[in-house]
Amino acid sequence: MTVDPQTAMNDHDPNCIFCKIIAGQIPSRKVYEDDELLAFHDIAPWAPVHFLMVPKRHIASMAQLTEADQALMGRMMVLAPRLALEQGCRPYPEGGFRIVVNTGAEGGQEVHHLHLHVMGGPRPWLKG
Ligand code: ADP
Repeated sequence: MTVDPQTAMNDHDPNCIFCKIIAGQIPSRKVYEDDELLAFHDIAPWAPVHFLMVPKRHIASMAQLTEADQALMGRMMVLAPRLALEQGCRPYPEGGFRIVVNTGAEGGQEVHHLHLHVMGGPRPWLKG
């Protein structure tokens, strides 16, 4: 099998902490995994339920998305409510959850591997 070095580099960034989690080189508390996606608990939760959903392919942020990523991002959005319930968020409309995707320095992004923060649970964690 031949591996295109350019593709391999784009798919996995050896310096990326989330790529290391995906590769199993750094431990995580896994919530969900399939061929394309991984979800795991945030190490410093802001809410009673707080997990991250990431594409396994290294995409630095939402700013790098192309039309080819529409199905992948759609899968994440459809999966998020199911995982939120499984992790203890109460059902809509009394319960619910918040999804945040920080993008770029001015968007508050610290880890440059696209991730959805999924947060919920009883208040008073919610601000704004
Ligand atoms: P911010 O830190 O401002 O939320 P990001 O949106 O880039 O910026 O979020 C990165 C998230 O990754 C943080 O919530 C942080 O707690 C989490 N995190 C960092 N390292 C790990 C890790 N090893 N396992 C789980 N979560 C992690």
